[in-house]
Amino acid sequence: MKKAKEKKSREKKQPLAVDEQAVVNIGMVGHVDHGKTSLTQALTGKWTETHSEELKRGISIRLGYADTTFYKCPECKGKEAYGIKKECHCGGRAEKLRTVSFVDAPGHETLLTTMLSGAALMQGAILVIAANEECPQPQTKEHLTALKIAGVQNIVVAQNKIDLAGKEEAIKNYNQIKEFLKKNGFENAVIIPVAAHFGTNIDLLIGAIEKTIPTPKTDESKELKAYCVRSFDVNRPGAKISELKGGIIGGSIIQGKIKIGDKIEISPGIDGKPIGTKVTSLNCAQGLLKEARAGGLIGIGTSLDPSITQNDRMRGQVVALPGKMPKPVKSLSLKINFIERLAAKVENKLKTNEILVLTIGAMTALGTVAGEKQGTVLVEMKMPVVIEKGQKIAVSKKEAGRWRLVAYAIAE
Ligand code: ZN
Repeated sequence: MKKAKEKKSREKKQPLAVDEQAVVNIGMVGHVDHGKTSLTQALTGKWTETHSEELKRGISIRLGYADTTFYKCPECKGKEAYGIKKECHCGGRAEKLRTVSFVDAPGHETLLTTMLSGAALMQGAILVIAANEECPQPQTKEHLTALKIAGVQNIVVAQNKIDLAGKEEAIKNYNQIKEFLKKNGFENAVIIPVAAHFGTNIDLLIGAIEKTIPTPKTDESKELKAYCVRSFDVNRPGAKISELKGGIIGGSIIQGKIKIGDKIEISPGIDGKPIGTKVTSLNCAQGLLKEARAGGLIGIGTSLDPSITQNDRMRGQVVALPGKMPKPVKSLSLKINFIERLAAKVENKLKTNEILVLTIGAMTALGTVAGEKQGTVLVEMKMPVVIEKGQKIAVSKKEAGRWRLVAYAIAE
C-alpha cells in the first residue's frame, strides 16, 4: 500500500520523458466479426476500452484504444523474435523497439461513420480479414476505401481465423485477398495468416508492422493540430469545488506538439464559437507527459468547466493554437468524387435535399445537399464545422436504412 502511494507521488513530481508516449496510431479495421478485438488483445495483452453498452451488444461502438510496446530478442538469432514482453521465450532479454497505440474501429455497418472519423488519426492500419469467409465482405471494402481517402497507405493484412479454415479454403481466401488488394492499389501490402485466439503468428505480424508502418517524422516547424475523439469530466459527483479538475480532451496530435501551459483553442466549439483554454496536464497510457507529440493517443487536461467536456461533447473538434484554424462555417462547396462500390446497381448522384454525413477530420456532421453549381455541390451543415481548403472529406449517405460510404469530397 505504502509503495503504491510512493509510486503515485513520484509520478506526480516527475513527468515521464516524452519518448514514452506511443509514437504511432495503428488502426484496427475490418468487417464486424472478423476478430479485431481479439487480435487487439493478442497484440496488447488487453482488451480495448469498452463501456457497458458495447459489452451488451458485443461490439465496439466507439473508437477503442490500447497501447502496447513491441520488443525484439537479440539472442534468438536468425529468427523474427518479436513480442510484447521484455522477457523472450528463450529466456533472453528482449530489446524495446517502440510503443504504439492501436485504434480499434467498429466494423458494424451502422457504425461506419465512427470508423471513418478514426481513420483521420491513423498513420497505418491492420486490415483484419477472416480466412473462413469470402473476401471482400462489404465492410472490408468500405474500410479499405476509407483508409485510402484518409491517405493511410501503410497497411498490413491479418488473415485471421486460419484455425477455422481448411488448408484449401485458406489458400483460396489468401488469393482472394491478394486480388482484392491489387484492385484497390495496395498490391504491396503484406498478408500474415494468424489465429488471434491462439496467439499464432502474432510475432510475425509484429515483425510486419515494424517493417511496414514506420514512425511518422515529426515536423517541428508545423503548428499544433490535434483531433479530439473523446472528452470527459473526471470529477466524481459531489466533488468539492476546490478539488474540481478541468475538462479532459482525449485524442491525437496530427502535427506539431503541445506542452503544459500552452494556450489552445478548440473549434468549432459550441454553436460555432471556438473555445479558448489552457493546457494544465498531459497524459498518455504510460503516465504523465511534459510535452506531447504527434502519434499515440493522449489526454489533454484543460482549465475548462468540466461540463463542457463531459460525455464526449467535444468529440470531433480540432485543437490548435488560438486563431490558427479557419472560422467555423455552415455552408460548404465540395468537389465530389464517387467511389466504386460492390453493389452494381447504385446511383452515383446526390439529390437536392438529400441528407449526408460528412467526415471532416475526426468530426462526423450532418448536412443537406442545397444544390449544384458547375460540378460543385453545395452542402448546408446542421451545425458549424471547421474545414480547411483542399481537405479530403468522406461522404456517406443513407441507402436501404444504412449509412454507406459513397464518395470523397475536396473542400473548395
Ligand atoms: Zn529470444
